Amino acid sequence: MADRSFLDWPFFEERHRDWAAALDEWCAHNLPVDHRDVDGACRALVADLGRGGWLRPTGLAEGETFDLRTLCLTRETLARHDGLADFAFAMQGLGMGAVSLFGTPEQRRWLDRTRAGAAISAFALTEPGSGSDVAASQMSAQKVAGGWRLNGEKTYISNGGIADLYVIFARSGEAPGARGLSAFLLPADTPGFEILERIEVVAPHPLAHFRLTDAFLPDSALIGAAGKGFAQAMAVLDVFRPSVGAAALGFARRALDEALARVQSRRVQGAPLADLQLVQGHIADMALGIDASALLVYRAAWVRDSGAPRITREAAMAKLHATETAQQVIDTAVQLFGGDGVRKGFMVESLYREIRALRIYEGASDVQRVVIARQVLGGSA
Ligand SMILES: Cc1cc2nc3c(=O)[nH]c(=O)nc-3n(C[C@H](O)[C@H](O)[C@H](O)COP(=O)(O)OP(=O)(O)OC[C@H]3O[C@@H](n4cnc5c(N)ncnc54)[C@H](O)[C@@H]3O)c2cc1C
Repeated sequence: MADRSFLDWPFFEERHRDWAAALDEWCAHNLPVDHRDVDGACRALVADLGRGGWLRPTGLAEGETFDLRTLCLTRETLARHDGLADFAFAMQGLGMGAVSLFGTPEQRRWLDRTRAGAAISAFALTEPGSGSDVAASQMSAQKVAGGWRLNGEKTYISNGGIADLYVIFARSGEAPGARGLSAFLLPADTPGFEILERIEVVAPHPLAHFRLTDAFLPDSALIGAAGKGFAQAMAVLDVFRPSVGAAALGFARRALDEALARVQSRRVQGAPLADLQLVQGHIADMALGIDASALLVYRAAWVRDSGAPRITREAAMAKLHATETAQQVIDTAVQLFGGDGVRKGFMVESLYREIRALRIYEGASDVQRVVIARQVLGGSA
């Protein structure tokens, strides 16, 4: 049983503890799912999570604000049970983040469907020529009578190929660089939308490279004002970056649980591995790293839930520390399992694959360092 003592920290209210306990119970009965048909598994997970009411924190009704502590607790709990369940949950939030924060009443109607698990969403920012450097995005959005015409490519788009709608960031040209991007809501059945390639990665998730060719979107598809797409994307990432840290925390906690069970049952030289002081040192480092990550993740969530409009520094620290630490914790767990650590069918082997991409997407670790340094240097870096 994973350590739940952190739920007594003053960051949380009773409703958070109740939510986490109820979700843990749901996970114990419904997860993990079979990952062999990854598209089918994701569709089923979104539907099941929606039916259970667990997708409610992923979007905002008119007048609501994100409850980041609940978002993070949900991701941590799901990740501890099944990485694909965390992915399915997270993408409903990230995909629709710009609509939640900046959408018109008409656009927000989609949220009823994504929060119920009746529609799948995606967040399309990365392009073949621009990932970390968002300001270099090339996909074009040309103003035409009654709407916009979009041309270009996006890649590494989670849920690409299974999503019902995509929030797309494209160059509308109000100004050069970051100030010339706008966000649009694009239904997957829009003529001109074409999947070029399904991308396979170390921990399989639905992921695609797609092209838009003269795709027409009506004026009503523009999210917020033209030219505000970069600021909107950063505001969405501000909310969801700590939740990437929370998912990493869930993976790390699971790795520690697996390692604890292993070192107490596996015997070397006539005694459990856990009796060796060097092994105890590793366990101590794992537990310490996990607590430090939890403090940073839930600090960021609590600061935002307490009313801070932006949490750029806290979010970057939470994501950087929690993902890097989880990689170390999981690596240690693999080591403590010996040969079984790298063997298919063992949880620590799949955690080893699951954690890797979290250090890259939604801002690679070195990009988080740059963000933190800018904040610490007061914007003069
Ligand atoms: C599994 C997975 C899922 C993804 N899902 C999505 C999605 O749903 N939507 C989406 O839009 N994108 C998604 N991405 C794309 C992801 O956000 C990008 O891969 C990421 O932003 C890095 O961009 P890049 O791959 O172009 O690498 P580059 O931008 O080429 O960067 C490569 C490396 O260079 C270094 N680097 C880059 N910039 C700096 C800097 N300023 N300072 C210091 N070092 C730097 C870092 O080490 C970085 O890892 C996903 C990626 C993966 C792997």
